[in-house]
Amino acid sequence: MDNCIFCKIIKGEIPSYTIYEDSKMKAFLDVNPNSNGHVLVVPKEHVRTIFEIDPILLKDMISTINEKIYPLLKERLSIEGLTIIQNNLLGQEVPHFHIHLIPRYQEDGIKTIFDKSKIKDVKEIYEKLK
Ligand code: AMP
Ligand code: ZN
Repeated sequence: MDNCIFCKIIKGEIPSYTIYEDSKMKAFLDVNPNSNGHVLVVPKEHVRTIFEIDPILLKDMISTINEKIYPLLKERLSIEGLTIIQNNLLGQEVPHFHIHLIPRYQEDGIKTIFDKSKIKDVKEIYEKLK
């Protein structure tokens, strides 16, 4: 897709710190990382959100994270945990589907990912969902 920064990275028009690539996906370091070794995993096909991605491709991406990227991060960076985040629409800065892999370390000082100060009572939400 024209004007998509991640499509440009996939085509090699913009440089990236790529750590894994195959015919379906690419994984590269986030340039503004939330922790040391923050990786973005992106499909080569341009789709915006998880609601449009081919579920088989998504499954392949998860398998690749589990079998290739997580072991690499564990072996080379000695990560001790991995927080996985994926934004759709609101909170999504780049409109090309991507999975954030945020390595965690015992002493990383990250306390919470979410601000819980404006959350309603769980029972009130359950009444709308059940
Ligand atoms: P999101 O808010 O989920 O869309 O996250 C987009 C992420 O892409 C942010 O964490 C940015 O730091 C990252 N990002 C933006 N441009 C680049 C780039 N050229 N190379 C690597 N990461 C990028
Ligand atoms: Zn794109």
